[in-house]
Amino acid sequence: MSDIIQLLPDSVANQIAAGEVIQRPASVVKELVENAIDAGATHIKVNIKDAGRTLIQITDNGSGMSDTDARMSFERHATSKIRSANDIFAIRTMGFRGEALASIAAIADVEMRTKEHDRDLGTFIHISGSSIITQEPVSCDSGTNLQVKNLFFNVPARRKFLKSNPAELKHIINEIQRIALANPTISISLFHNQAPVYELPGANKRIRIVSLFGKNINQNLIPIDTETSLVKLSGFIGQPKHARKTFGEQFFFVNQRFMKHPFFHRAIMQCYEKILPPETIPSYFIYFDLDPADIDVNIHPTKTEIKFENESAIWQILQASVREALGKFNIVPSIDFDQAGSVDIPMPLREYGDVHVPEIKVNPAYNPFEQSSSPKYSYGNDAGFKSAPAQRNNLTNWQSLYKGVEPAPMEQEETSTEPVQFKMEEQQTVKTSVQFKNKYILTPVKSGLMVIDQKRAHERILYERLIQVMETNEVASQQQLFPETFELNASDATLLLSILPDLKALGFDVREYGNNTFIINGTPGVLNTLSPVEIIESLLEEYKLSPANVQGKARETVAISLAQASAIPYGHTLKPIEISELIDNLFACQTPNFSPKGKKILSIMPLEDFEKLLK
Ligand code: ADP
Ligand code: MG
Repeated sequence: MSDIIQLLPDSVANQIAAGEVIQRPASVVKELVENAIDAGATHIKVNIKDAGRTLIQITDNGSGMSDTDARMSFERHATSKIRSANDIFAIRTMGFRGEALASIAAIADVEMRTKEHDRDLGTFIHISGSSIITQEPVSCDSGTNLQVKNLFFNVPARRKFLKSNPAELKHIINEIQRIALANPTISISLFHNQAPVYELPGANKRIRIVSLFGKNINQNLIPIDTETSLVKLSGFIGQPKHARKTFGEQFFFVNQRFMKHPFFHRAIMQCYEKILPPETIPSYFIYFDLDPADIDVNIHPTKTEIKFENESAIWQILQASVREALGKFNIVPSIDFDQAGSVDIPMPLREYGDVHVPEIKVNPAYNPFEQSSSPKYSYGNDAGFKSAPAQRNNLTNWQSLYKGVEPAPMEQEETSTEPVQFKMEEQQTVKTSVQFKNKYILTPVKSGLMVIDQKRAHERILYERLIQVMETNEVASQQQLFPETFELNASDATLLLSILPDLKALGFDVREYGNNTFIINGTPGVLNTLSPVEIIESLLEEYKLSPANVQGKARETVAISLAQASAIPYGHTLKPIEISELIDNLFACQTPNFSPKGKKILSIMPLEDFEKLLK
């Protein structure tokens, strides 16, 4: 008998593979938006016609592709994201299997326009049922624009299987919700038959949740924030009274990827036992961040089922965090969304010390940056350590604040939520502070031992000074003896150009020299400890990671990024005098307990815990 085994033609193999990855229009949306995210896009537009049957169009401002890559991207197992099997264990991108584009091109009519940022011309490719119809140069925007038309035109069975338009659209909206929640800083819009469904600017998690689920959810969100060596948990759980009878507001994300996890869902349900109205499901938006080597995302082609190496330990951490958050929620004041701004909203430290429900008192006439006599901060060459004489005035505020039971009257008016709720022991405690692991400062306080994160503390100090400088226009630029020139890649150069006015307001004197080259003539005095070029470079990096500059917030984002880029790094040994200056300056801040990005700066280990430890 003659041999009968043959290799399937690519087009057939791709169609079969497509069955696994692409079940419906929503799967195409998911794969293409994830590709845009992997390509570093900060703006993604999704345009749908007839629930995706006629058209699914995704436009991104990501990296774009070269001519060859554009062609290669439609090959099966063609990916830029992994090179060897080992890479699968360190995956940080959404895709890596190299199947999506090949699958989509096998079952639809696909037109792609893509251009790298430093090119003048892009590439146009038209491919239908796996065959290339055209590839030619095209003039188009940087990034990628993919149009998928007539989905399943050659797989009638699949096409028949599709549900009604509203049902398919609902699937698409669900996918967009998941991706939008997983990537709050990316601006995403969805249009259906020309009408906007979502237009989401880059934001923080809380604001993203509110823009997807409505303003009412805001006061029902209880923050979760736990960091262990195994996993970092963040996000929110809903108050029991907000629980609904139907599913829809339950989300887990792991390393910025949506996942389904019935086991962890049960962990949460157990925490809510007896406090929920009957037959309701609590809302939750929980983000797990952990080493990619500790999870396996490759157990299912759509990658929504994920296996955890340390599942039971994480289960316990999850339950402990949810229980702790629930235990606290009745004394957590609701923070008005409009005050939230674009950074994570800091919640006051209230688990320790004399906790009392903060009174919300706002003096509408108060302007924190308006000083009657001496300015609150000097803006000198002290890199945030030295307190200038003018600052001393302010120091007495925090000392009395933490020493006495009654906060100083001025402080009461200044803050709409109470600041730190603990009492500092006498002034000399500052002198007994020590640095630990070149990362933390340990300071005895009345109720136990306070741990301060030195970098975050310095970020807070610098940030408040920078804001002060911007608000008062007291720009103090320090001229460079030897102006430095530096060159950036095209996209960083564009980014820098766009924030130059803000940098100027902060005291930078940077000018464009042509050809993506810049010259630094002067820097804000406060930053003179590091090389200015290094600061600009790390500022750009930080800036890219920050929530997209929501209108009017650009300066704040620059200030946050600058504070982060120039804060004393971990690993830096501090002299005793620097330690005490740092503490002084921290408590002279408006918000000493949270970094500009909303991370905890300090925490107290209560005395009882020490006693328990030594039992
Ligand atoms: P995977 O995402 O698993 O690598 P895909 O088939 O989804 O596989 O994409 C193949 C390759 O095409 C990607 O690895 C990437 O290099 C490139 N690519 C796809 N979409 C985009 C995009 N929007 N922008 C830039 N490159 C892209
Ligand atoms: Mg992909």
